[in-house]
Amino acid sequence: MNEHSKRRVLAWLIVASMAPLPFLVKLPTWSIPGSVWLYASAVTGYVGLVMLLWMYILGTKSVMGLYFADLAPVLSMHKWLGKYGTLAVFFHPIATAISYGDNLISYALVPNLSQSFERSVTWGRFALYALLVVWVTSALIRGRIAFRPWKYIHYLSYAALPLALVHVPSIGSSYRSLDFPRVYFMSIVALLVIFSVLRLRHLFSLGRARYTVVKQAEISPGVYMILLQPHGREITVSRGQYLYLQTSLLGEEHPFSVLQHDVTTGNITVAYKLFGSWTEKLSQVGEGASVFVDGPYGEFTEEVNADPAAPRVFIAGGIGITPFVDHVLSEQNADQWLFHACKVPEEAPFSAQLRQRLGSRYVSIFSRVNTPAGPSDERGRISAEILARYLPDPAHYHYYLCGSDGFMQTTTQSLTSLGVPSTHIHREAFSW
Ligand SMILES: Cc1cc2nc3c(=O)[nH]c(=O)nc-3n(C[C@H](O)[C@H](O)[C@H](O)COP(=O)(O)OP(=O)(O)OC[C@H]3O[C@@H](n4cnc5c(N)ncnc54)[C@H](O)[C@@H]3O)c2cc1C
Repeated sequence: MNEHSKRRVLAWLIVASMAPLPFLVKLPTWSIPGSVWLYASAVTGYVGLVMLLWMYILGTKSVMGLYFADLAPVLSMHKWLGKYGTLAVFFHPIATAISYGDNLISYALVPNLSQSFERSVTWGRFALYALLVVWVTSALIRGRIAFRPWKYIHYLSYAALPLALVHVPSIGSSYRSLDFPRVYFMSIVALLVIFSVLRLRHLFSLGRARYTVVKQAEISPGVYMILLQPHGREITVSRGQYLYLQTSLLGEEHPFSVLQHDVTTGNITVAYKLFGSWTEKLSQVGEGASVFVDGPYGEFTEEVNADPAAPRVFIAGGIGITPFVDHVLSEQNADQWLFHACKVPEEAPFSAQLRQRLGSRYVSIFSRVNTPAGPSDERGRISAEILARYLPDPAHYHYYLCGSDGFMQTTTQSLTSLGVPSTHIHREAFSW
């Protein structure tokens, strides 16, 4: 089954897991508004539980990686569910408060530990606080907070599902009076346990391969290249794929495209740009140190791997060159072009080897250079005009774009304006 079909199966599974809920919970007396609100509260409560479970599963690399080659589309589903699906969770306390004739703010948000019923509701309130914080920081103001604070806040979501589960048995009217909701509830608990075990297995680095740093050097200002040698199990990587690197057990994991994979030695080379604290730390890792590697992931250039002679154009912004280097250097006879956009020539690693291989089919585009442009050497930003100057029949090629979000957006617009069908445009984002 290809990745697209697998994603469709996953989407159907998500829908199918929620579809029976309106018929499983206790049906209301339709003429009594309070009873209808209670019914709505029960349905949205169970939808909320299963939605939280799906978000947990979809956000678990160690689980999704067992089934999907590329994690980016799965994370997009996770984000979509998080942004819109969580609204169903928020509707649950609203419906409950209305059915009880309570004030929404005091019912949903004010903790109350006075009686056992209220204590159970309060577990749900805590789940709601956690979700509210996660939802606001992820769906509304994600762009305004740095990656790491956002990530730590996001960990609150791990508390939401257990807290929401705990508050059901003693107060859920459907749970207490009907068998089906109980079975459904128990299935959620069982799946949560299974996926948590899989997650823990990964947390303790089981399933990751240990590599030794053989060489590490700064190849252009702020860009490092690191050569890793397998220490036991080897990971086999196709061109264009990425791996997660980890410098210590229980430490952070970060994704990097593989620059080169030597099939005879198993050695892997990665080139990375200093961005923040983790890449700073990686640049200080000395020769002989161990690095843990998880992967491979991704299917970005799988069409090129499947048909190495197919005409293609690689378009890179800055360090986004990494998934293309091995393709360009290894394929001698392919009909291939490479456009590389950087601020200045010093920020264009591998340009000498790439130009040597591709000749005039390697086009550099510098945005902060004032000297006049030359052959295959452009000034400014990537544009439809620049691409059209070199590619007389743009729709003939498949395009592989890698760079910042803005860069890929502008390039996609340029390609579309040149008549390139969207099925010919493939993209790899370096941030999620
Ligand atoms: C599929 C993929 C392939 C990549 N390949 C390369 C590469 O070949 N060379 C290269 O220099 N960079 C690559 N990156 C980007 C690299 O992962 C980030 O630059 C690095 O993780 C930054 O970490 P930091 O702590 O140094 O910086 P931070 O300041 O913490 O992060 C900078 C940005 O990097 C992204 N990022 C940080 N941590 C993660 C994470 N764990 N998972 C996903 N995104 C994260 C976030 O968008 C963040 O805003 C790739 C990213 C992805 C998703």
